[in-house]
Amino acid sequence: MIITFLFDFFFPRECIICGELLENGSTKNKALCCSCLEIFPPAYRLPDSGDHCRICSRELVSEKEICAICRERKYLFSCNISLWDYRNKFVRKAIHEYKFKSKKHASWFFAETIFKLYNDNFSNIPVIPAPCSRSRIEKYGWDHMRHICKILSRKYGISVFFLFKKRKTRQQKELDYEKRQTELRGRIILLRKNAAACLKCSETVILLDDVFTTGATAGYCSELLINNGFKNIIILTIALD
Ligand SMILES: [Zn+2]
Ligand SMILES: [Zn+2]
Repeated sequence: MIITFLFDFFFPRECIICGELLENGSTKNKALCCSCLEIFPPAYRLPDSGDHCRICSRELVSEKEICAICRERKYLFSCNISLWDYRNKFVRKAIHEYKFKSKKHASWFFAETIFKLYNDNFSNIPVIPAPCSRSRIEKYGWDHMRHICKILSRKYGISVFFLFKKRKTRQQKELDYEKRQTELRGRIILLRKNAAACLKCSETVILLDDVFTTGATAGYCSELLINNGFKNIIILTIALD
């Protein structure tokens, strides 16, 4: 208690949406002030099979079951589940502040929400963070998804395996799906020893990433996993773009 108080006193934390200082005491799990928490959208439940693509979970327009993009790309993962919609400005801001402004205390908020979804829908399925590139680590000094995974493991007891390494890549934001695929090939490496240890626990794994955009990273990581004996890959992302 006293440690929390002193920590908050010396390292005051801000709300990641409005920037207001969070009240002292028990702020460890908090990233949003009360007002922002009220306007922040509730996290997704699993998509209804009727009106969402059963692979990427985007809303269907006129298609049935699987959207046109997923039909064309033939991903090797079974589905993507996202907590929030990236089009929501508060969601975008929260992820941006966490990822690019290094508001690391938001990791507790994301980890708690991921755990709730995990706990309601899965059990004993290992979680694997998507690889973070060397260039990102050099620029920002930390791996944001690894950070969340450590909380999932230490606080919530979920098995986490670090299976990927990623060499330097070009900024992928502007690249389309095909170009991203080419860029990733040979730059994401599966750590075989860790993969073998993970496979002993389960042939189904959850790959955790921040934003599902084109599905290129999820698709390529799934390909590496399937080629190394895994049978079922579920993608879990903080937001769907
Ligand atoms: Zn706020
Ligand atoms: Zn789809």
